[in-house]
Amino acid sequence: MEYNFDDFKVQGTKFNYYFVCKRKLWLFSKGIAMEEANDRVQQGKITHEYAYKNKEDKKEKLIDGLIKIDILEKEDIREVKLSSKMKDSDRMQLLYYLYYLKQLGIIKRGTLNYVKERRVEEVVLTIQDEEKIEEVLKEIKNILKFKYPPKVEKLTYCKKCAYYEYCYVKEID
Ligand code: SF4
Repeated sequence: MEYNFDDFKVQGTKFNYYFVCKRKLWLFSKGIAMEEANDRVQQGKITHEYAYKNKEDKKEKLIDGLIKIDILEKEDIREVKLSSKMKDSDRMQLLYYLYYLKQLGIIKRGTLNYVKERRVEEVVLTIQDEEKIEEVLKEIKNILKFKYPPKVEKLTYCKKCAYYEYCYVKEID
């Protein structure tokens, strides 16, 4: 598949869900939204408030209506997370943000700030990361063409997922 970023770019949340669960990515993309009731999303909102408690500008930076950056600084972008439980998908999402900004001619470094653990992880975009991101964007486009959602995967975090009941009730049926 030929690659042109404008044809493939997606919301940061979708990019993240690709790494969490392909079915979740599909359900979310089709507008089956259940995230409001989900603990993790609520926790995310609390984390955001925490991140901004000493800052005057509390607005996240929304770019192209697709990527929402927690904190945009001169040299860095910062993403604030409650814990590192989903660190792989969090890291890939931040790399995607760095990649996205690079397509706009903006070069930044990234940091993941884990509030509970009081830990900061630096994230730097490499050429290999860029290649991987482009492959993932192609795969996402492909998944979103599916007529039906990918099968339920029994993942350790299913019970905490907003789609848990939806997925497992369907399974019983
Ligand atoms: S409950 Fe599990 S299988 Fe269903 S969308 Fe969530 S993570 Fe995926």
